[in-house]
Amino acid sequence: MPETREELYVRAAAALRLPPVETWETFPFDGDLRPRALLPPVAREEPRAGVGRVGCWQCAAPDDEFAWTAERWRLRALDEPSGLPVVLLLEPRAHFGEPGELPDDLAAELGLMIARVERAIRSVGEVGRVHVCRWGDGGEHLHWWSMARPARLPQLIGSFAAIWDDVLPPLPEALWRANIAAVVEPLDRS
Ligand SMILES: [Zn+2]
Repeated sequence: MPETREELYVRAAAALRLPPVETWETFPFDGDLRPRALLPPVAREEPRAGVGRVGCWQCAAPDDEFAWTAERWRLRALDEPSGLPVVLLLEPRAHFGEPGELPDDLAAELGLMIARVERAIRSVGEVGRVHVCRWGDGGEHLHWWSMARPARLPQLIGSFAAIWDDVLPPLPEALWRANIAAVVEPLDRS
């Protein structure tokens, strides 16, 4: 039997730790910190946006809202520039909620698509790494984040890059558009 979340809460709520963030070069914040109080578990999770395709804006979005589209995949940018040089989301055109729900042929194609998008983002230049992430706690329609981490800024390495995306000032609009265009160009050729 797994530990219930009520048991986890009782065990953890009064024993939260502050990791040694002052020694982490990649931690984006400075100053006195304390862990936020852990709230008790809820009876059930709130449904995600677009659950069961109902009101799913990703299904409803026309192709021209995406940076690039193919027969079974679409790649979209955020609505506005953020701090990292490229942030794109890869989605299957069809609505699936979890990676394990993809039929085998689409799951296999996903591997090819992640590799193609990673390669295309890296081709923009001055990219240290392309982080490929899936959380899925916001909207149900599957989407994989691809985030370009700027090269030669060692503080930005690792998973805090997703936080640095909000800490760094947004890219100038023209640069943001040029970077997206530079990703799309090799995708169109392949
Ligand atoms: Zn959908």
